[in-house]
This record gives sequence, C-alpha cells and structure tokens, in this order.
Amino acid sequence: MEKNATSHQDIDVLIIGAGPAGTIAAGIMQQQGLKALIVEKQLFPRFQIGESLLPRCMEALDEAGFLDQVKDCHFQDKNGAKFVWGDQLCDFSFDNQHTKGWSWTWQVKRADFDKKLADCCSARGIEVLYEAEVIAVNIQEDGSSHTTIKLKDGSLENIQARFILDASGYGRVLPTLFGLNKPSTQHTRRALFAHIQDPHRLEVTEPDRIIIIVHNPDTWIWVIPFSDGTTSVGYVGSPEFFEAYPGTKTEQFLAMLRAEPSMAIRFREPEMVWPEPRVLQGWSTSTDKFYGKGYVLTGNVTEFLDPVFSSGVTLASVSSQRAAHLVARHLKGEQVDWEEDYQHFMETGVEVFRVFVDTWYDGTLFKIFFSPQRDQKLMNQICSVLAGYVWDATNPFVKNSEKTVRNLAKFLESHTIS
Ligand SMILES: Cc1cc2nc3c(=O)[nH]c(=O)nc-3n(C[C@H](O)[C@H](O)[C@H](O)COP(=O)(O)OP(=O)(O)OC[C@H]3O[C@@H](n4cnc5c(N)ncnc54)[C@H](O)[C@@H]3O)c2cc1C
Repeated sequence: MEKNATSHQDIDVLIIGAGPAGTIAAGIMQQQGLKALIVEKQLFPRFQIGESLLPRCMEALDEAGFLDQVKDCHFQDKNGAKFVWGDQLCDFSFDNQHTKGWSWTWQVKRADFDKKLADCCSARGIEVLYEAEVIAVNIQEDGSSHTTIKLKDGSLENIQARFILDASGYGRVLPTLFGLNKPSTQHTRRALFAHIQDPHRLEVTEPDRIIIIVHNPDTWIWVIPFSDGTTSVGYVGSPEFFEAYPGTKTEQFLAMLRAEPSMAIRFREPEMVWPEPRVLQGWSTSTDKFYGKGYVLTGNVTEFLDPVFSSGVTLASVSSQRAAHLVARHLKGEQVDWEEDYQHFMETGVEVFRVFVDTWYDGTLFKIFFSPQRDQKLMNQICSVLAGYVWDATNPFVKNSEKTVRNLAKFLESHTIS
C-alpha cells in the first residue's frame, strides 16, 4: 500500500543515508538555507566500520557545525599514524606536516560517532527518518524526483524533492538503481576484525595513533585504540591468507593474534567485546559518474579504495562538504560545472590515495617508510597526505604523486648502505 507523504513536504534535498557523508551534507545545506530530509535504512546506533579518522575531516565537521558536540563525546584523540614491520618503525606525527591544517583528529566507534552526527542534525530540526529504505527513485524532466521509501511496517511512502544526494555508502542506492556500478580495479581483499579489551596498551605505546603492522608484505593489521580502554584490531589480506587458518572466526582470529609477536604480547589474555569477530570482503566498487540530472553521489557511493590509509570517512566528509555547496548553488539557479568542480576535484584527491595504496601493496612505500635515511622534509610531505590533505598542489606527493613516490623509493634503495 502506498501513501503520499504529508509530513515530508517542501523538501529541497532528499539525502539517502545518515553516515558521515549524509549528515555533514545536511548540516552544511541547512546553513545554506535548504530543507533537507535524511532517510536511513537502519536504526541508530548501528555498527559501521571506519574507526580511524584523518585530520582533514575535521574541517568538514567544523563547517557542518558538529565539532563542539562531537568533542563532548570524548573520543580518543589521534595525533598520528605508526607503521611497524618487525623491529622497524615509521612514526608520523600530524604536528610535522607540510600542509598547514589540522594536526589531530579522533579514533571513534562509528556507532557512537555516526549517532552523534545524526543527533546533531535532529537537534537542529533536520529530520532523520530511521528504518526507512529507499527502494525506487524517479527523476523528472525538471530534475526533481519522486522517491519511494519502505518503512519498518512494510508500508511505502512517496517523497518529492528538488534534488537527491546519495550518501548510502555500501548500499550504493543510485548507482544500483541507475546501473552505474563499475567493478573496481583493486584486488579483492578480506578483513577479519574485532574489538578487544586492551589493558596492556600502555606497556607498548600511547593510544593516540593508529598502528599499522606489516604482518607479511601482502597482509597488514590495524590497531585502533578507543578512549574506553578497548581497541579495534583487524587483519586485512587476500582471501587465501585467511583460508590458511582453520576453525571458527574466533579461532582464526586468536590464531592470527598469536602469529604476530607484538599482538601476542599485547593481547596475551584476549577478552573479546563482541560474540565473534566480523568479516568483510570485496568492498571496492566504483562508478564513472558522480552526478547526473537531479542528483549527486557522495562518500563511499562514489568509490572506496582500501582501508590501509584510513581515507574513507575523510573522502566521504570532503565530498559531502563540496557537494553541499554545489547543490545549494544549483538550487539557487546558478550554473554549476559538476564535472570540473565536483567529479574532477574528488578524483584528484582519490588518485593520490590510490597511488599510496598501490605503492603500499607493491612494496614501494615500505622502501620509504622503513628506510634508515628518511628526510624529515619529505616525511612531512608524506604526513600531509596521510592527514588527508590530498588537494594541496604545493606538496610534490600530491602534485606528482606516483613519480615522487617511486623516484624517492628508488633513490633510497640505491643509496642504502647495507
Ligand atoms: C575493512 C574496512 C576498514 C575501514 N577502515 C576505515 C578507517 O579506519 N577509517 C576510515 O575513514 N574509513 C575506513 N573504512 C571506510 C569507511 O567504512 C567508509 O568510507 C565510510 O563509512 C563511508 O561513509 P559514508 O557516510 O559514505 O557511508 P556509510 O557510513 O556506509 O553510511 C551509509 C548509510 O546509508 C544507509 N543506507 C544504505 N542503503 C540505504 C537505503 N537503500 N536507504 C536508506 N539508507 C540506506 C546505511 O544504512 C548507512 O547508515 C573502512 C572500510 C573497510 C571495508
């Protein structure tokens, strides 16, 4: 049975999804005088992966007007990123950066973080409709849309809006409905991860940074401490790596902890928070088209590369920050160059992360990160990429990313005295 919305009238922008991409867009659009409605399939708080933020996303949170309320949550401060391979260490502090920007951010349980952002929207009068799944979208000739949502009780509602911003993340609503999905060129990888009590963390290091451990050249581990004393630990590798571990997910995970010496010591009496670890696989899908008549895609819907440099939430935040302004201009009747000002802009930043991801997995970055002859100025430039400042063209690791990374690795390799 379909009913027409009575409460959801005069909507300027229908936002699909209440993850960071959706709520940041809503916050900024409201400041631009637009009435947004967020429809969210799930009930919050809900689990989501993506716990290590990058400093660049603080600018988007600030502009959306969320920063002070998020500070009240007392999430774990994150001041850098540490890469470890055996006894080799590469420690980046966001204080030492080429780009002048934020020098810190947070490590967050996404259930709490995303709920806080959505609550900030609700508190400001932006409606968030939970347990409402977008199932069909019809874009009209004039760019406005009729969207069908399915409510928890199975009833359908039709919502009209002047514009749609799809921030549905892994749901990929518009690319799926409009046939825009494209297989990613990234390798299929799997993650097995859990939240664990971490009473021995201070024996190892301060909790104020993510640790990325090279378990073997194709498999790495994330260690993301939270402010409540628990820590997120995840193994990422090819599916074959995991298949070598028999048993249940818990048995696999515990065996993997024992197989990495620093993990075996830190989590020597592992007390898991969840009933069992979780698995994700094959998360990289992409699309050629980030916008179309009456809609724009932001966040993970556009593309998600690989989690090794924690770029996901930051790219989601920046794309929504950017798109919110462009949608506002479009709805005011201004001419918007979506190709140049949105898609090309976003692809430029994503490309820098793609180079870093590719050169991580082909071993090139290891030659830089674990070289005994690292130059601080160059490391500061790399640090700015790792902080999410991937649009600063004064940084050679942004402007000529691939060439700069490969040339530096070659130089360090040929000048290393063995
Ligand atoms: C293994 C792994 C580790 C990661 N680690 C990190 C990390 O450390 N740091 C980081 O920044 N990123 C990380 N990411 C990426 C991160 O998960 C995403 O980039 C981020 O969540 C994207 O945010 P978003 O707002 O675009 O989408 P999401 O957070 O996915 O939010 C989308 C929302 O849309 C809703 N939705 C979906 N379909 C519909 C529908 N039909 N109707 C209504 N609502 C709908 C969903 O319920 C969801 O709440 C990781 C990813 C993986 C796979």
